[in-house]
Amino acid sequence: MTSELKQMGDNDFEFVQDIPWYKVFKDPKTNDYWRLSTPDKYQTDYMVKLPKDSNWESFDSRALEIDLLKQSRGESANKCIWKNCNNKALNDIVYCASHSYNEMNIKE
Ligand SMILES: [Zn+2]
Repeated sequence: MTSELKQMGDNDFEFVQDIPWYKVFKDPKTNDYWRLSTPDKYQTDYMVKLPKDSNWESFDSRALEIDLLKQSRGESANKCIWKNCNNKALNDIVYCASHSYNEMNIKE
């Protein structure tokens, strides 16, 4: 898993969307996505580079757990029904691993 941190200030980034706790930007030169934490007066604005194919909301310490959820439940052929989500739903669940984890509180 690769990620990078950089200080906000590269104005070439394109704003993509707001997600819970973060804003997502895209570097048009490399097509990489970067995530900025919701501003906090005690923090410097650092952006984390999101690995390709990562889920924007879940990437971080929880990514491993979601991966495990995906492995333990398995993925179905259906798409997650969450709005704008292109992930595959888990077996016997209408949501993908990350939405099951983050929104439905399914942890295992
Ligand atoms: Zn989903």
